[in-house]
Amino acid sequence: MYDPKSKKAEEFIDHQEILDTLAYADAHKDDAALIDEIIAKARLKKGLSHREASVLLACTLEDRNHAVYELAREIKRDFYGDRIVMFAPLYLSNYCVNGCLYCPYHAKNRHIPRKKLTQEEIRAEVIALQDMGHKRLALEAGEDSVNNPLEYILESIHTIYSIQHKNGAIRRVNVNIAATTVENYRKLKEAGIGTYILFQETYHKESYERLHPTGPKSNYAYHTEAHDRAMEGGIDDVGLGVLFGLELYRYEFAGLLMHAEHLEAVFGVGPHTISVPRVCPADDIDPGAFDNGISDEIFEKIVACIRVAVPYTGMIISTRESQKVRERVLELGISQISGGSRTSVGGYAEEEPEEESSAQFDVADHRTLDQVVKWLMELGYVPSFCTACYREGRTGDRFMSLCKAGQIHNCCLPNALMTLKEYLEDYASPETKAVGEAVIEQQLPNIPNEKARAVVAKHLQEIAQGQRDFRF
Ligand code: SF4
Ligand code: SF4
Repeated sequence: MYDPKSKKAEEFIDHQEILDTLAYADAHKDDAALIDEIIAKARLKKGLSHREASVLLACTLEDRNHAVYELAREIKRDFYGDRIVMFAPLYLSNYCVNGCLYCPYHAKNRHIPRKKLTQEEIRAEVIALQDMGHKRLALEAGEDSVNNPLEYILESIHTIYSIQHKNGAIRRVNVNIAATTVENYRKLKEAGIGTYILFQETYHKESYERLHPTGPKSNYAYHTEAHDRAMEGGIDDVGLGVLFGLELYRYEFAGLLMHAEHLEAVFGVGPHTISVPRVCPADDIDPGAFDNGISDEIFEKIVACIRVAVPYTGMIISTRESQKVRERVLELGISQISGGSRTSVGGYAEEEPEEESSAQFDVADHRTLDQVVKWLMELGYVPSFCTACYREGRTGDRFMSLCKAGQIHNCCLPNALMTLKEYLEDYASPETKAVGEAVIEQQLPNIPNEKARAVVAKHLQEIAQGQRDFRF
């Protein structure tokens, strides 16, 4: 039954194949010879199959686990250097007709304030986000064809891209909305979205149906096949994710990698990003009600194993996670993080009073973007506000082939330094600016191509003189 090329959810995420994978991983969790073979293959940095990666995730040999962590760090450095891409979520509406048991926006929650931003309110939110320094947003909205029809999402995207405030601009809008039709994905593509992100929540069909008792999202196949439809609608960059804590993490891990293999097999391009949220507290949601919660240690191991299994896929972490956990997983594979986030509908322009909170989840990292940027630089990273690939048409297979050839390095570091410089000039506090100037000076010699280095040095001066938006 298992067929990565099939267009049917239950064939490319075949339950029996996952069970067999878990049994295989259990049988080999201390099989040093096999584990060494898998690690040797991972060292080629071309990825692993879901079975191989599942053995690494199950591995009980401490020295081999250590080797996997080391390799994850190495792959992270090789493919992403010191750069960390910054983004912020923007919640448009929390009206939702679905019944997801783990989300406070579920339709039966009668006491959470329901809000939907008007275009004027979106303007205010976007100006506030621009004033923080953000250039890349992830749009979030519940599923409700009456309150949040696609036309509303499209109009909102148009509004967001049209706002030019001081030197600010949102240059890339990623979208995280409910599974929809090919035709609607085509409209999103035409509206100029970057990545279409849709979390599977859980790959386990029975659990999925239990956790989604009502609403259109309860259709497992329609949801699981959504990324295929998005790609058929012309969106080349799609993002996957599971909500760890709902089901057994090893099941989800295998399912996630099978989904990535399916996209690669059918479209020749794997997922652009993988997100790794964990269930966390929110309005009427108690994470203790889900009995598959994972420890920080397991969470770190999952990140490391995903990193070695799909080296070319960006990994995203949100402010659900604390500063401590974020720090640990950054080195193991995370390449994009949010900063200064509000997870309520509105809240950037004007803070919501706590008793009227419309938040989807409680934020664990409450620092401002400026604090996060400074913290990253003090850890040795280069915060990047780059959105160049999407704007240069380097998406889908064009992006992946550049990435696989290691060429992306000739774009990423230059773009990171130039967008960081913009941030420092326009938005940073004096302390952050001082740290940032030193980072730029230190990193400039690391641009491999001499000509590119000279161009960047020139653009850095031009940015200091007021010019903006250079990119490679
Ligand atoms: S997870 Fe999404 S679809 Fe489910 S209730 Fe929350 S907003 Fe609605
Ligand atoms: S150059 Fe492309 S891959 Fe590199 S950081 Fe910018 S958008 Fe991302």
